[in-house]
Amino acid sequence: MPSKQRKPTLAVWKFASCDGCQLSLLDCEDELLQVAGAVQIANFLEASSAVLPGPYDLSLVEGSITTPHDAERIQAIRKNSRFLVTIGACATAGGIQALRNFADVEEFTRIVYAKPEYIKTLKHSTPISEHVKVDFELRGCPINKGQLLEVISAFLHKRRPNIPRHSVCLECKARDTVCVMVAQGTPCLGPVTQAGCGAICPAYQRGCYGCFGPQENPNTVALSAWWTLLGVGEAAQQRAFRTYNAGARAFSKEAERHG
Ligand code: SF4
Ligand code: SF4
Repeated sequence: MPSKQRKPTLAVWKFASCDGCQLSLLDCEDELLQVAGAVQIANFLEASSAVLPGPYDLSLVEGSITTPHDAERIQAIRKNSRFLVTIGACATAGGIQALRNFADVEEFTRIVYAKPEYIKTLKHSTPISEHVKVDFELRGCPINKGQLLEVISAFLHKRRPNIPRHSVCLECKARDTVCVMVAQGTPCLGPVTQAGCGAICPAYQRGCYGCFGPQENPNTVALSAWWTLLGVGEAAQQRAFRTYNAGARAFSKEAERHG
């Protein structure tokens, strides 16, 4: 464990991603000063070019594995990290770039790049947990900054992070939002999506589109049956399960059922 003489070191790493989850950490503003007081930020290129050598006590990893180089780099980071936490839909479920998993990547590179032979890419975009041991996965696209601070605080106090695994529906009830699916017949992925956003979309009369990924034990089959009653076709249901968390097992399995 980290010695009493020094602060624990924090490293933040980026793989295939949009940087939005790292921005959530920068967006912590006042709290970031407290975090910086409690840990030594040893590697966080989005915030500072100063880099301290490892090993690191806590590594936060954003992004998915999409290249052979990434696959090697994550092994080195794991070896150099006491605890490794993945943050966001890309790192925990492959991200929007996991849509390639259902298509022909070589065809994409042929169409997009003038010299596709220079592109070194893997056929699939995969979550970090498919490559190395992960100590905790924090969901969201992007992550909720309050939940991120809870994860860092839990690490500092040597306890398990208190992150709920229940559905967005409970957050609707907690904020007295009338259910858009029941009241308006709007298709909503809230019943199978993990809480964490505060049920923002239903509060604005929109259905949830699942950016926090599957909740614990999601009943996707029952939800799809309900969507069918609402008149949502098979292709639209498949698309709904293939967005930011297309690579999450529960969502990818349900999407296949509608193929
Ligand atoms: S609006 Fe969506 S998330 Fe909210 S209670 Fe209804 S089904 Fe659940
Ligand atoms: S899509 Fe769902 S999980 Fe994402 S912010 Fe909207 S309600 Fe929350």
